Amino acid sequence: MIEVRNLVKKYGNHLAVDHLNFKIEAGRIYGFLGPNGAGKSTTMNIMTGYLGATEGEVLIDGHDILREPEEAKKHIGYLPEIPPLYMEMTVREYLDFAAELKKIPRQKREDAVTAVEKLVKIKDVEHRLIRNLSKGYRQRVGLAQAVLGFPEIIILDEPTVGLDPKQIIEIRELIRKLAKNHTVILSSHILAEVREVCDYILIISRGRLVASDTPENLERLLGESETVEIEAKASSAEIREILKNVPGIEQITIRRGTEETTYADILQKKGEDIRERVFLAFADRKIPLLMLKTTRPSLEDVFMELTQKNTVPDAFARRLIQEREEDRENAGSL
Ligand code: ADP
Ligand code: MG
Repeated sequence: MIEVRNLVKKYGNHLAVDHLNFKIEAGRIYGFLGPNGAGKSTTMNIMTGYLGATEGEVLIDGHDILREPEEAKKHIGYLPEIPPLYMEMTVREYLDFAAELKKIPRQKREDAVTAVEKLVKIKDVEHRLIRNLSKGYRQRVGLAQAVLGFPEIIILDEPTVGLDPKQIIEIRELIRKLAKNHTVILSSHILAEVREVCDYILIISRGRLVASDTPENLERLLGESETVEIEAKASSAEIREILKNVPGIEQITIRRGTEETTYADILQKKGEDIRERVFLAFADRKIPLLMLKTTRPSLEDVFMELTQKNTVPDAFARRLIQEREEDRENAGSL
């Protein structure tokens, strides 16, 4: 349905989108999840033909968005981060105008506009000036514009930003309703939102895709990446030295402890249980371990880990990517 291939966007020297590759299939709600500045809006603007790419291509139902924009754009409705509303128009005038731009045939325009007004519940404000509407209502008008003509794919950039909790719930319900007949892609920097609404998550960090899967699979895969947390009466250098020859360790992160002790988070390789080995390694050196326990990261931990470290993809991301490649290989050999 949508194929994004090797997409790159540079602003001057700044790499905002860094070789993105993904596919969007029909009938799902996709979530672009990433902190502010990750490249979500840039990617969406390129996918919808508002912005040219530096490299790479976007195919919408096989049509290149830059080479065949008319054909490609027919399939998409887009609500940008800042909806392009005309403040001096009434809601109805604006939607009639949007219908014209979308080349909805004249005789079908009225029905098309009325249908979306009813869907997003703005029929009763259709004669008000957009300028006089609340933020929540303006967002609905933006949404109505995106949905107008019922394109197959609806792309929404941070659709709930700036809304109050009641409005957020209403917009989410609307998105779910839309998803029954449309493919929806939305972006958000809020994990809870994406988890609640979407059935497939693409995590973007610094312009790169660091993980993509269903929320359940992300939780499951990450649940397997167990960390062993220790507190030892040793310096960080001693801890690294002692653990150097212990097999099954993926990565060690040292955290400051008390004056005498140090904490370390040891990420173990998949399928390993390193607790006994760690215990014995410290015992061998007669260095007391004051604490040793396993912790499973939550989706929140993983999101933070994936998006806030300087080195992305890190161990988690590598594991996710590795798993996906294995899955793909397995699928291929069946
Ligand atoms: P997101 O939507 O995930 O918050 P954006 O796509 O808006 O991220 O921005 C990605 C990066 O590109 C950011 O570092 C941002 O500062 C930069 N950026 C976005 N738009 C422009 C622009 N028009 N000119 C220069 N830099 C930009
Ligand atoms: Mg944005």
